[in-house]
Amino acid sequence: MFLEPRFGGQRSGWIEVVTGCMFSGKTEELLRRIKRSKIAGQSVIIFKPSSDTRYSQTDVVSHDDNSMDSIVLTQVSEIFNYQKDYEVIGIDEAQFFDSTLVGTCEELALAGKRVIVAGLDLDYKGLPFGPIPHLLAVAEYVTKVHAICPHCGNLATHSYRLSEDRETIVLGEKDKYEPRCRKCYSMGNILDLRPKKI
Ligand code: ZN
Repeated sequence: MFLEPRFGGQRSGWIEVVTGCMFSGKTEELLRRIKRSKIAGQSVIIFKPSSDTRYSQTDVVSHDDNSMDSIVLTQVSEIFNYQKDYEVIGIDEAQFFDSTLVGTCEELALAGKRVIVAGLDLDYKGLPFGPIPHLLAVAEYVTKVHAICPHCGNLATHSYRLSEDRETIVLGEKDKYEPRCRKCYSMGNILDLRPKKI
């Protein structure tokens, strides 16, 4: 369980990254940290990319229907229109932003803000996704969360795409993806024919 290093009085900020595959609880963890900051009396704001339209245009919603208001951005640079009065900045679905997110997060941290980024580490091909790998390198704190593989019960680290679409970004939920462990992911479609244990 991640515990905040220090809530008050810090002179410089920092970057936290919460990452993992789909259905691993990244957004829940982001919302948990944001809520704790609010309890501590800090001003918080959450951003998400306009490309994530699965649940709501203006809320950050986790798979368990936890939600908070958010600002929807079409470009990373729009963060600077809003961030001035906030001490804690959350960014959800960060894999959909371009590489300028890295410098932006560093600039915000340098300005004394706590920046909490949540996003997929790997795309459906198992390759590093968007700006997340770079953010993992520059972050002070990294938390990798896991789902459970529905085929074998091991920890799931990969997002397996059930559909035939081949674009990198295909929005969808359990109809399009399932979390899988390394082994079941590597076995690919063979497993689609098997009944799931859970
Ligand atoms: Zn498995």
